[in-house]
Amino acid sequence: MSKVLVIGAGGVGSVAVHKMAMNSDIFTHITLASRTKAKCDAIAESVKQRTGVTIDTARIDADDVAATTALIRSVKPALVVNLALPYQDLAIMDACLAAGTNYLDTANYEPRDEARFEYSWQWAYQDRFREAGLMALLGSGFDPGVTSVFATYTRKHLLDRIDTLDILDCNGGDTGLPFATNFNPEINLREVTAPSRHWENGAWIEGPALAHKQVFDFDQVGPKNMYLMYHEELESLAKFYPEIKRIRFWMTFGDSYLKHLEVLENVGLTRIDPVMFEGREIIPIQFLKALLPEPSSLGPLTKGKTNIGTIATGEKDGAARTVYVNNVCDHEDAYAETGNQAVSYTTGVPAMIGAALMLTGQWKGAGVFNMEQLDPDPFMDMLNKHGLPWKVRDLDAPLDF
Ligand code: NDP
Repeated sequence: MSKVLVIGAGGVGSVAVHKMAMNSDIFTHITLASRTKAKCDAIAESVKQRTGVTIDTARIDADDVAATTALIRSVKPALVVNLALPYQDLAIMDACLAAGTNYLDTANYEPRDEARFEYSWQWAYQDRFREAGLMALLGSGFDPGVTSVFATYTRKHLLDRIDTLDILDCNGGDTGLPFATNFNPEINLREVTAPSRHWENGAWIEGPALAHKQVFDFDQVGPKNMYLMYHEELESLAKFYPEIKRIRFWMTFGDSYLKHLEVLENVGLTRIDPVMFEGREIIPIQFLKALLPEPSSLGPLTKGKTNIGTIATGEKDGAARTVYVNNVCDHEDAYAETGNQAVSYTTGVPAMIGAALMLTGQWKGAGVFNMEQLDPDPFMDMLNKHGLPWKVRDLDAPLDF
């Protein structure tokens, strides 16, 4: 019996739970809990229709450690999969420690009042998880998540030494809407408006947000503008692969998205500090989130493909080599299978895979783990089997920028 408790009923939670139900030999009992129980019930209904599997649902405010501990104690899962927001990470880790349960998430902790996501807060739980004999797996989404697994696979099988690593994240999907974010709008806007940062020769190089642009021709999508950004996995890759001299992250954005973003920033709607409005405090970015479409509603609208991968340069058997490992995911196919678009799909599937590897004991340990620390082979194998097939391609030359 492998019971799992999933917290968070957004797009990512929906995909993960559908995929778990499709693998009911591993996930023998699934409970989905979130702040709004109606959203859990709607997902449960879809899971029942698509897979025939019945899942349990519950209401939980995961900021409340005591309530979450009580829920974990009553469900008695072998693993809690946190697919709520980064703000809840520490509270859910505390509840897992109190209830004696393993933990997995897809995004690192970020305080609400500061747009600063980093692993330090969660790495600080290392001793407590190790002493309790429990495992916490951090960042088992696509990026972070699969991108680190691609890098680890590259280092294990394709290169004897990695010199440079570029992560290229392209969403070639189009919703037909003038402005929408493909995952939680508040988290997305905090991420893209942050200064860019990349790792070079042992130091972080910082620059203004979205100021460094390159064009890249993505397989099955075509040429797109991509922008240098800071992203979570840069921190764990720099920590676990000190040999890599330069690590960069690039994400594509369309001109319409950037035009809207610039205006929203200029008028102050992406601010995360409280402002007074009609006698009460509001946080502009939270108000903006309420106006924007929910990412989970974009499924039927989104057409096109995502293409996310890693390009590594280095050496294999004494010769220079550049290898590109990537996955292409179709928004409409993702929607047909789970009722969610590809950005939720590419995150929810790796969350299911990380959970499956923990529940089956293929990934095990006591303490707090990043993806780079675990054997990439069973994860890569499951990506191919569960909807996110990947390809390895040699490039003639390293990127010329
Ligand atoms: P959504 O906003 O669609 O869903 C978040 C869910 O969490 C909602 O159901 C929300 O409830 C619930 N929630 C929020 N606060 C609480 C709380 N205090 N207690 C219980 N439930 C709560 O986001 P996504 O599904 O798009 O993203 C989910 C997570 O995945 C995020 O952490 C995001 O950063 C991460 N992510 C990771 C990616 C990766 O590749 N690694 C890519 C994309 C996302 P309600 O509906 O009531 O608001």
